[in-house]
Amino acid sequence: MLTGMQIAVIGGDARQLEIIQKLTELDARISLIGFEQLDHAFTGAVKEKINEVDFSNIDAIILPVAGTNLEGQIETIFSNEKVVLTEDILLKTPEHCTIYSGISNAYLNGIVKAAKRKLVQLFSRDDVAIYNSIPTVEGTIMMAIQHTDFTIHGSNVTILGLGRCGMSIARAFHGLGAKVKVGARRSEHLARITEMGVTPFHLSNIEKEVTDTDILINTIPKLVVSAAVIAKLPAHTLVIDIASKPGGTDFRYAEKRGIKALLAPSLPGIVAPKTAGQILADVLSQLLQEDLVNRKGNK
Ligand code: NAP
Repeated sequence: MLTGMQIAVIGGDARQLEIIQKLTELDARISLIGFEQLDHAFTGAVKEKINEVDFSNIDAIILPVAGTNLEGQIETIFSNEKVVLTEDILLKTPEHCTIYSGISNAYLNGIVKAAKRKLVQLFSRDDVAIYNSIPTVEGTIMMAIQHTDFTIHGSNVTILGLGRCGMSIARAFHGLGAKVKVGARRSEHLARITEMGVTPFHLSNIEKEVTDTDILINTIPKLVVSAAVIAKLPAHTLVIDIASKPGGTDFRYAEKRGIKALLAPSLPGIVAPKTAGQILADVLSQLLQEDLVNRKGNK
């Protein structure tokens, strides 16, 4: 149980509703910031504006999956107000206050470090990232179907990266009957790609390998789908880039060449917010309960 814990949930999409539901069931008290347009009410959760919250009582802050943008602004689907997380706000919290987000960036890392608070990035945990790859795959399949006039079955699908998402995407497209190739740079990844029954290639050969690609799916958060790579793609290729913003594609050059290239953020929040929210809610409730037990033990 989270009895006695005061948690600020700031912004986010429908995934946060599962988190709020779970934490209120566990008896936490919640300040909801950036939710004033949400019709639903949760027992034990109060909607507040960021400047109304008494942060000196807040034991944990839960941010959306993306955390903040590079100016500190937090995405708020259920509000029109601009919500910005600052170092000053973190300094008002008790020293034990932990900040939870999916991923982080230089701004969020900077204010957390300056305020000497702890940041937990849920997606750096393999379990969360692997569970989350399931709705991500379904969202990627949805985009491939929506933006092509040919079947996935029989298509040449090139996937870049064999991380938690790349592996799941490769397996699913292979299962749907696509001719799948996966590009990676580590020899153990090339070995795993071979073991999975799909075709491996080293990323250093990417320009040669993409010339017959119908659908190119990038999972690498670095500029790998460069102008030189795009120049080698057939004109009909669909590029789906799921890597975190700004993605790994030269979108400017793709547009210039007339190649359809889509940055596809937050797929789990779009195709399966309930499941994606439950994945986060389960791990967050476990971490918050551990935090509470540790603090009681230290007293
Ligand atoms: P991951 O497990 O860390 O995998 C990342 C992959 O990128 C690994 O194969 C890694 O290979 C490769 N990589 C990283 N830097 C590279 C570089 N400079 N050159 C070549 N390869 C490089 O991450 P993940 O969980 O699969 O997630 C992948 C991306 O998708 C992340 O940006 C994540 O935030 C994003 N994501 C988006 C959605 C969505 O809905 N759009 C959903 C989930 C995740 P090495 O092991 O060789 O470094």
